[in-house]
Amino acid sequence: MIAESWDVLIVGGGPAGLSAAIYSGRALRRTLVVEKKIFGGQIINADVIENYPGFAEPIVPADLMEQFSLQAKRYGVVLENDEVTRIEKASNRWQVETLGGRYSARSIIYAAGSVHRFLNVAGEKQLLGRGVSVCATCDAPFFLNRKVAVIGGGDTALAEALHLSKFAAAVHVIHRRDELRAEKILQERAFKNEKIVFVWDSVVTGFIGREKLTALEIRNVKTGQSQPSEFDGAFLAIGTIPHTELIKDFTRLDDQGYVPTDISLKTDSPGLFVAGEVIKGNRRQVIISAGMGVQAALSCEEYLVTQD
Ligand code: NAP
Repeated sequence: MIAESWDVLIVGGGPAGLSAAIYSGRALRRTLVVEKKIFGGQIINADVIENYPGFAEPIVPADLMEQFSLQAKRYGVVLENDEVTRIEKASNRWQVETLGGRYSARSIIYAAGSVHRFLNVAGEKQLLGRGVSVCATCDAPFFLNRKVAVIGGGDTALAEALHLSKFAAAVHVIHRRDELRAEKILQERAFKNEKIVFVWDSVVTGFIGREKLTALEIRNVKTGQSQPSEFDGAFLAIGTIPHTELIKDFTRLDDQGYVPTDISLKTDSPGLFVAGEVIKGNRRQVIISAGMGVQAALSCEEYLVTQD
């Protein structure tokens, strides 16, 4: 099969990938974006976006991300739903294999994002989708008037807890310390919310249930005491892991798998650029990922000009 040839192949159709695409398209580069799930990325699952500059009123994430896609298409970018399975470099070109085909590209902007982190304790994977979830926006309506837990103490945990409180009877936030990492505005809202209860200094050591989740085994890290507690649902919000497996042969990764890079967003391999949640120190904000996508596309354009 002859590989279709592109100037810029972008892996990942979230805020970073689509922003890079808008700039590469406007630079008149033949640009392809390959996204394995939904164009728009994980933010589509969020309830609402209140902090995207330029919008005084809260916006629906799917509406915002649709505009990113439409803007990229307007400049001739092709959006392809497919999964990249392998990346190789042969002389000056990149070869990209996907489930559905094979592509050749002069450059790659890798913006594949991150995947949810799991606790890796008993029952977790077996009960995923049966009471255990990683997405409150997707699953909250299933827990109307039920008792649910959110595990974690960051922005995601509190945003999820606040959303769940609109449906559930009680939301217990189980956090391993006695201090939250989440931003103050979310903390204030959560502390004021009568349905939200904090379970401090505690970790979940097991998910209990046969057909569906019925209880969590919770250990207090200060006292060492462990006990089961009944729950109908549990939402994991303990951060993410970068999706960098496909580029590990072409650039250094840190001990957590993130790409250490500077503002140029270049990697150790000429012609390979990164953007978004694969980068060390990223803060998982749409506006930051979008900015990184733009920066990666500009660096990529500089590279292509030297190769033209
Ligand atoms: P995060 O900030 O990394 O927080 C993860 C939380 O999970 C922390 O509280 C951490 O505890 C806990 N945790 C991690 N591993 C754990 C384990 N093995 N067992 C128990 N608890 C564990 O992740 P995030 O909340 O998903 O946020 C990621 C980034 O996205 C942040 O930069 C955040 O600001 C951003 N974000 C922003 C918004 C918003 O703007 N509203 C919404 C969502 C996310 P410790 O605190 O003890 O480390």
